[in-house]
Amino acid sequence: MRIVFLGAPGSGKGTQAQRLMADHGMVQVSTGDLLREAVKSATPLGLKAKARMDAGELVSDDIVLELIRERLQAPDTRRGFILDGFPRNVAQARALGPVLEAAGLALDAVVLLEVDLDILMKRLTGRRTCSVTGKLLNIHFSPQAELDACRKAGGELIQRADDNEQTIGNRLRVYREQTEPLIAHYRATGLLRVVDGEGEIDDIYRRLVAALGVARP
Ligand code: AMP
Repeated sequence: MRIVFLGAPGSGKGTQAQRLMADHGMVQVSTGDLLREAVKSATPLGLKAKARMDAGELVSDDIVLELIRERLQAPDTRRGFILDGFPRNVAQARALGPVLEAAGLALDAVVLLEVDLDILMKRLTGRRTCSVTGKLLNIHFSPQAELDACRKAGGELIQRADDNEQTIGNRLRVYREQTEPLIAHYRATGLLRVVDGEGEIDDIYRRLVAALGVARP
């Protein structure tokens, strides 16, 4: 399947995409992850993107479109993919159409993960990644045993540079102003599936696979 994940920062797109990837072999394509890698390796593209990311603003459409075009050419995406964090505005959604057409790929569904603002704030301020296992954790919500397991494995709980309160405020504003209009855009195409993104990760995943009509392994 070829899916777009829509949802505010902290709505659980990355977490749910990783589960779909593990169970169904689709590839998670996260423009945020691709950009963070470019920043880490200090590529020219990464250097251009860094200031915008640190401020919680969107990186230019040209940059992310180039990343997506390149990534979708890799053979692993033939098994299906989840676009996580792309498109982020209507111009990107319009540009995506021809990119997919040229590759002979059509979208099967667009999933919107719906989560209330106060929960988003807690998820974002508490979000951490284990430096050894790469597991996504949350100091407010993850079981203590899972947080301890990271330390026991010799890892540290790393906070994303843009998960501080000021940048989070900007990212949520940018979502409301630029990304939310995509809901109407994709509703009009008939592809939109709205999933309640609150509660336990397992329950959200159950609702997600039901909405997509994919069998649970
Ligand atoms: P994310 O990990 O999806 O929350 O993305 C982190 C940051 O990367 C965002 O705040 C933006 O600065 C940038 N970014 C990620 N995806 C996009 C996109 N599709 N368009 C523009 N900027 C993006």
